[in-house]
Amino acid sequence: MGSFGEKTFQARLNILGEFADRELEKEFVGHEVAYSIRLVRPALLLLGILYFLFIIADYALIRDGHTFNLILLNRALFLLLSIIFHFRLKNVSRLNHYYEYVTAYEIIGTLFLLYIFIKYEYPIFLVQSSDIMILLLLVFLIPNRLNYMIMVSLIISISFFALSFHTGVPINAREFTASIVHIMIVIILVGISALNINRYKRIQYASNKELIRLSSRDSLTGIYNRHRFEEELYRSIRHAQRYGTQLSLILFDIDDFKRINDNYGHLTGDQVLIEVTRAIKMEIRESDMFCRWGGEEFALILLDTDKENATELAQRLRTRICCTYFDPVGQITCSFGITSFNPGDDSNSLIERVDRFMHMAKQLGKDQVINDF
Ligand code: GH3
Ligand code: MG
Ligand code: MG
Repeated sequence: MGSFGEKTFQARLNILGEFADRELEKEFVGHEVAYSIRLVRPALLLLGILYFLFIIADYALIRDGHTFNLILLNRALFLLLSIIFHFRLKNVSRLNHYYEYVTAYEIIGTLFLLYIFIKYEYPIFLVQSSDIMILLLLVFLIPNRLNYMIMVSLIISISFFALSFHTGVPINAREFTASIVHIMIVIILVGISALNINRYKRIQYASNKELIRLSSRDSLTGIYNRHRFEEELYRSIRHAQRYGTQLSLILFDIDDFKRINDNYGHLTGDQVLIEVTRAIKMEIRESDMFCRWGGEEFALILLDTDKENATELAQRLRTRICCTYFDPVGQITCSFGITSFNPGDDSNSLIERVDRFMHMAKQLGKDQVINDF
């Protein structure tokens, strides 16, 4: 029961709720940025439009024509800025750039709002203070790095309080103190909630990754399992059909494996399976897809490989296995079947053929390679 938590949430998180492993964090954020951009782009437009629409309230509240014009210009410019960021974000692919754009947008947006605070004829401190709280909520709503969010929210609140002192807004000391305390509480609460979201999202991501890994691997040898192999074979066949590339398949089976189990026990049999896997891995390329087909049978998908090259590789694998000493069993051998993709093949026909050749190798005395020459 206790092991559930330990096993599932292995990835370590730092104080900001990000993965301690930088590569993993980069991978996660890469995922997140595409999603965030899709969300944030229309949100920026909406924000720009909303900010602009407040001109209706300004029209009712501001009497001085010059001040009204300045505020109208401010709101129009911010709308323009939002439109520009909306389009700029479309082409952002690097995550650092996304963070920089969002942070810059938030800081510039704050300056625009503070300018209106300065210009308002009859400013009310508590109303402005609530505006700032709404702004802070927005900052934490737009996906960004937590430390940037905190930095922006501190910049916003400190500039607001400093500005209030210098613009002569009528403030009483109690309201001012209460406002500082409330704004700080808002920052702490939304900060905690952002931290929790960070952590939760990453725990989910890591667990999902682990689940995907487990569902595609064989638990004994760690190589791909049959399920994943079938998916990959299907994909490889489609690729070969579309681009006319070569594709070969090898299926091999350990000879007289039952005797190993009978003579040395099942655990030694397992160890032999692990070591056979290790030996094969040393001979194949990164792009070759190696899987445990089931029991003591293994399969390989060889991309861009014709029958001759596949046969050469199978011979090399056969030699490698029969030259290896498997402690305490000694020498073992394997029988190999090989086939290559022909137009019109599907995964069933390929598997049926390679299985037939592998069995032919068994019938012809084992420890051999048979292909469809
Ligand atoms: P052949 O040369 O014709 O292939 O004979 P064989 O003995 O290798 O083949 P057979 O199909 O008779 O036996 C395969 C054995 O592999 C039977 C099964 O118990 C054993 N086996 C299957 N999976 C595992 C496993 O994960 N671990 C161990 N230790 N043995 C396994
Ligand atoms: Mg066998
Ligand atoms: Mg078998």
